[in-house]
Parts: sequence; C-alpha cells; structure tokens
Amino acid sequence: MPPTRRRTAPEPAGKLPPQRSPARRSAHTHHSARTGASPAAATFHRRQLLLGLALGALALGTGLSLQDPDTVPGRPIPAEGGTTPGAAPGTDAFAPSTPLPPITRVLAPRGVITALPGTGNLLALTVDDGTNSDVVAAYTKFCTDTRLRLTFFVNGANRSWTDNAPALRPLVESGQVLLANHTWSHPDITTLSRTALREEITRNDTFLRNTYGVTGLPFFRPPYGRHNPTTDQVAADLGYPTIAMWNGSLADSSIITEEFLLGLARQWFQPQHIVIGHANHPAVTHVYPQLLEIITQRRLQTVTLADVYATPR
Ligand SMILES: [Zn+2]
Repeated sequence: MPPTRRRTAPEPAGKLPPQRSPARRSAHTHHSARTGASPAAATFHRRQLLLGLALGALALGTGLSLQDPDTVPGRPIPAEGGTTPGAAPGTDAFAPSTPLPPITRVLAPRGVITALPGTGNLLALTVDDGTNSDVVAAYTKFCTDTRLRLTFFVNGANRSWTDNAPALRPLVESGQVLLANHTWSHPDITTLSRTALREEITRNDTFLRNTYGVTGLPFFRPPYGRHNPTTDQVAADLGYPTIAMWNGSLADSSIITEEFLLGLARQWFQPQHIVIGHANHPAVTHVYPQLLEIITQRRLQTVTLADVYATPR
C-alpha cells in the first residue's frame, strides 16, 4: 500500500511549468479577453448577475461592480451526447429561460492536452490536490452559489474529499463539477515502478467510485506535471489516455498572496484555456468574487473537461 500521509510540501516550482509562462503553447493561444465572447452570452438572465453581486457584496462588502449584466459563468450543460443543446429542466434554481449555446464535444484524445480545442469563450478551471479540507469546502460552496463549473483533480488520500463528499456529491451528479484522477497520494510518478503507478491510479479510481459513484476516466493529471511515455502508457492501459496538462496557472500549490493570485487570474483566464489551481491554501477562497468578476467581464463560459471532451468507448 502506498503511504497515505497528507502531502504538505509545496509543489516545487522548478519542476512545474513556469508560473509566469506556463503555457507551452501560450504564444499561440493568447487572445484578447474580448475575442471569445459568444453572441449567445447576451441571453443570460439578469437574476444570475444579481446573485453574483450579492455574493460579491456578502463576501467582501466592497461593492464590487460586475459590469456585464448579461453574462454569467457556470450554466448547466448536460454531460451526455455529442452536442449539448440546452439546460436540463429543473436543474438550476437560477436557470435562464433561454437555451444555452451548444457545445460540440470532441473525443478526448490519447495524449497530452494543454488547451481546449478550437475557438470560443470557454474556460476550464481545474483545481488539484485538496490538502486543505476548508479550501475544498469553500470551493464547493462557491460552485453551489454561483453555478461555476470546474474540474477537481483529486488525491483520495487527502481527507478533504471524504469530508466534503456530502456537499460535493450533488454537484458531481449534476455534472457541474467533474472529478478526475490525480493519483491517490501525489507521488512523482516518474520515480515509481509500473506496479506502484498502477496502484496509485487504481486506488484513486476506486476511491472515486466508492465515494462519489463516478470514475475520473479518461482524464489523468500527473502530480507536479511530471510524466513520460511509460507513465502515459500505464495510465492509458487503465482507461486514462488523456493527460490533462494546462496553459495557465494560479501558481497556488504553495502559499502566495491574494494579489499575486489575482494577477495570474487576469493573465490566464482567457478563451479556451485550461487553468490549474489548487485546493491547498486559503488565499484563493478570499478572492472568489474577484475571480467571478474577471470571468463575467470577459464573457467566459466555465466548463468541466467532460463538457468539452467525450469519453472514448
Ligand atoms: Zn497536484
């Protein structure tokens, strides 16, 4: 059995994609914050704005101004079928009455993904680890309150995913939150034997099945972003052919200031980006209204990876 101790050491920045330029393809994928806006974004219901305003005011009391009254992140998108024509009825207390823009899903590829395919206004927030149960709880409440869609890359060894399962489960079941596989205990998998790596992936997969009734398939994110053809093959053989990397980072696997984090959010919350964050330290939980404001002002649609990628059969 691999060790189950909680990982507390920060991810060594030297081995991660550089914080200031994490994108291998960033030079090719940067867009103006405005270019990805969808015409359909103008159809969203004002009540969602009011919710966002209320959240901002409640959380900070700073009178935040959300200047795009017609956009909102986190619309529900059914998780099945090649195209998602609209919201499932009755799933959203704040549901807009207008149809949602369709998202044509592509098959999740075998190999590495670092950005969402094609052009559009989609933003995939991906949040890893969960070494702090309070931070996972705050993220869960943030999603519940705002309809934000995101993907968690879970390490089942962290108690947070058990502690918060009752609150998270409905979000997972609705498809608003996707759980994916980040190994059981967050080792550097390039140092493991094939057998040990299989154990890390399958133990986490079993945890997700037992705790949430889902699997992380087909999305695997190697801890520290460290992987090689051998680890990719082992993951693929276990049903995880898609190695989910990123092209934007909040750099919060270690402790950073809220201002630094927000600067990175302004830099990397861009159309078709996959942004990595961490549920490890509380700074991010103090700036949710500001993150929501960036998403809203830029007319970005938050998505889970399963909203965009269909699982190979
Ligand atoms: Zn991690």
